[in-house]
Amino acid sequence: SDGTADANEDINVQIEGVTKVFRSDEEGEIVAVNDLNIDIRRGEFLVFVGPSGCGKTTSLRMVAGLETPTEGRIMIEDEDVTGYDPRERGIAMVFQNYALYPHMTVKENMSFPLRIRNYPDDEIDERVDEAAELLEIDDLLDRKPSQLSGGQQQRVALGRAIVREPSVFLMDEPLSNLDAKLRVQMRTELNEIHKRVGKTTIYVTHDQAEAMTLGDRVVVLNEGELQQIGPPQYLYDNPVNRFVAGFIGEPPMNFLQVTIEETDGGYKAVGDFFEFELPDSVGSDLDEWDGSLDNVSLGVRPEDLSDLSVLDEDEYTENSTLEATVKVVEPMGSDKFLTLTPPTDSETEFSARVSPESTVSPDSSISLSANLEKIHLFDESTGANIT
Ligand code: ATP
Repeated sequence: SDGTADANEDINVQIEGVTKVFRSDEEGEIVAVNDLNIDIRRGEFLVFVGPSGCGKTTSLRMVAGLETPTEGRIMIEDEDVTGYDPRERGIAMVFQNYALYPHMTVKENMSFPLRIRNYPDDEIDERVDEAAELLEIDDLLDRKPSQLSGGQQQRVALGRAIVREPSVFLMDEPLSNLDAKLRVQMRTELNEIHKRVGKTTIYVTHDQAEAMTLGDRVVVLNEGELQQIGPPQYLYDNPVNRFVAGFIGEPPMNFLQVTIEETDGGYKAVGDFFEFELPDSVGSDLDEWDGSLDNVSLGVRPEDLSDLSVLDEDEYTENSTLEATVKVVEPMGSDKFLTLTPPTDSETEFSARVSPESTVSPDSSISLSANLEKIHLFDESTGANIT
């Protein structure tokens, strides 16, 4: 999918063929964003995710009006706003440096955007009260920012954006200044707040876990280009290429070098230390593949590798097994993370997430079974997903 929605859907924001080129004397031209096309639905929580420098912030800043596209246009509410000032766009921004005014109370902080726009007092009170209730900070209105926790300050910053009743919220890593535990807690709160407010939200993060938990849809960017857009679970299960497969999911998907060989009525994947008889579901994708099979890697998620010793005999087949050496065992309570190496190669590492009942120990060997229905094959030269 290229991110364009069906014609009958209620579209709030459109990013149409947007490219941004920065020119600097030292580095010449940098294509920060390359021909981006996305239709963002009304009320949707859309998350941009990707590694540092992939163009997330630049994309958001172009929607905000803080950066002008080199090519393409931005539409909000069916209106071309490409040349508009940020304040003419009906948007509100929440950034990681949410800098509340320290000398003002929570109420004064939240009122501020309305006061400078000369809203009447009773309307200001009404909107601030409503937002405070929504954010469950109504009992904090008389406090100063210094008397608030990080999470409460974050909610006040959100409140300051909400009172303006924008049509679209733009958020750039709003949780990155919070400690790990609070970040996870605020993630859940943002989810709930978004459901209550129901406004279109475009959110930037480099954290794939944040993207997975917050996004109705997730946009994966790499080097300025849209790799894939879709609901988080869809991206997890159906990555279009090796980049998305490796970026979404933690610990990441393992990639093992294989050659594909035809067998009687099927295929097998032959690696340095294993040989898998591929199931029909993978086989039919291979039948349809008209690209090269010279340089293939097999992607298997850590949770799709199981410790054979805790499986029943009917839970695996001989032709899905592999042997490995255990380097590290990390018990996580609900499962155990294993760092593994092939028996004959101590350099290559891969990982498995096995049952807590597994009794493996470091420096021992282990027999694993791969869930072959869940594997992916990638053309290493292009990164394309074959299956
Ligand atoms: P991060 O997660 O590190 O913030 P990002 O995905 O948000 O990264 P951008 O900030 O959008 O990435 O940057 C995309 C590319 O454009 C990078 O190569 C960056 O160096 C470059 N870039 C961004 N702003 C400018 C600018 N004002 N002048 C020149 N190059 C820029």
